[in-house]
Amino acid sequence: MSRSVPVMAIHGGAGTPDRARLTPEMQKAYLEALQEALKIGCSVLDNGGFADDAVVEAVKSLEDCPLFNAGRGSVFNHEGRHEMDACYASGRLRNTGAVAGVCRVRNPILLARRVAETTPHVFLAGAGAQAFADASGLPQMPDSWFFTEHRHLQWQEARAAEEIWLDHGERKMGTVGAVARDIFGHLAAATSTGGMTNKKFGRVGDTPVYGAGTFAEDDLCAVSCTGHGEYFIRHVVAHDVAAHVRLLRMPLSEAAWKVVYGNLMAHGGEGGLIAVGPLGSPVLVFNCPGMFRAWRDEEGNIFAAIF
Ligand code: ASP
Repeated sequence: MSRSVPVMAIHGGAGTPDRARLTPEMQKAYLEALQEALKIGCSVLDNGGFADDAVVEAVKSLEDCPLFNAGRGSVFNHEGRHEMDACYASGRLRNTGAVAGVCRVRNPILLARRVAETTPHVFLAGAGAQAFADASGLPQMPDSWFFTEHRHLQWQEARAAEEIWLDHGERKMGTVGAVARDIFGHLAAATSTGGMTNKKFGRVGDTPVYGAGTFAEDDLCAVSCTGHGEYFIRHVVAHDVAAHVRLLRMPLSEAAWKVVYGNLMAHGGEGGLIAVGPLGSPVLVFNCPGMFRAWRDEEGNIFAAIF
């Protein structure tokens, strides 16, 4: 059996990073956290592991890092809680699992994977998803674990202004995601988020919606998105990239550019995506000033960047 070259990409959100707040020290901290997550994912691939495990391990590491809007660093909702969404997609198993609006769960991506692997369902939300989390035995953490000073300040400001913010008022988004191809050629994607600061009424973005924020199919592509979720749902972004590849036989990079800079942008949808296909290096595209990202290409080179 011919072996594939394992490659991987991860993101820590796209948008308009506040250059004033992003001091050289902060940039270093973000880039180090991204590189660390990439390293964790790549070591799974290099040891002959599946892309499924690589993406979950990388996202788990980013969920544990308070810098990103997922897991530990999740933003506050209107009620001052952290409601998290996540989706796991395995091309190998052609299966996906997602959760929306869960609280206290340390690693929502593990819960999403549980949905895929232990239930006949795909997507659990709200009180039911919470009950599933409580019964899962996966680690849960007290509110203090999810408390970060700057997120709390953002929430207070957003509440005072009666606004709903994508992570920061300056529109930096901190959702995390990963895509990978393993040595067997299998593809996988995982995405996790705390959503929008001050969100109300059980708002759910694109992250856990299969086909909008996350997608994986072997021999086609695996995609993880980040950006203004409402637009990504309306434009079914992750699946639209796959459709361009499948139906128009477009190279993955061209498909990704067309989708991110096409209708999505024309309608005001800001953000980006990372993707991998059966061949070639990862594709990373965004239509806004920055996307926190890191990737390993086909030659084994490692890259990390914000702008
Ligand atoms: N897409 C996420 C959401 O709308 C936000 C983000 O990517 O930062 O919930």
